[in-house]
Amino acid sequence: MENKEIEKKVKQFTCSTCKLSVPYSYFGQNPPEANNFVLLEKAYIMQDPFQSQGKFLVIGSHCSMCGAKVCVDSTCSIFYSHRFCKECARRCYKDFPVQIQNEI
Ligand SMILES: [Zn+2]
Ligand SMILES: [Zn+2]
Repeated sequence: MENKEIEKKVKQFTCSTCKLSVPYSYFGQNPPEANNFVLLEKAYIMQDPFQSQGKFLVIGSHCSMCGAKVCVDSTCSIFYSHRFCKECARRCYKDFPVQIQNEI
């Protein structure tokens, strides 16, 4: 299990794999910036500072198996109906379709 992090006033997302640390504005499935847009998973969202309103970036999410915070970078996690960190994905390697196995 990962250590419980103390959330500071400025909400910060830290990937447990690559240690990427970025501030985020929202965690959930329905970003307020995106009208009626529902994400496939609960995710950490940050408003895209380079885009006009309504644009946002998905930074990361929780691994559905171990609960670790992982960024959406393909080196840290994989999405196959749920989010998996690479560690869990490797452990359950055989449960994934070949197409996904290639990415693990
Ligand atoms: Zn990462
Ligand atoms: Zn995991």
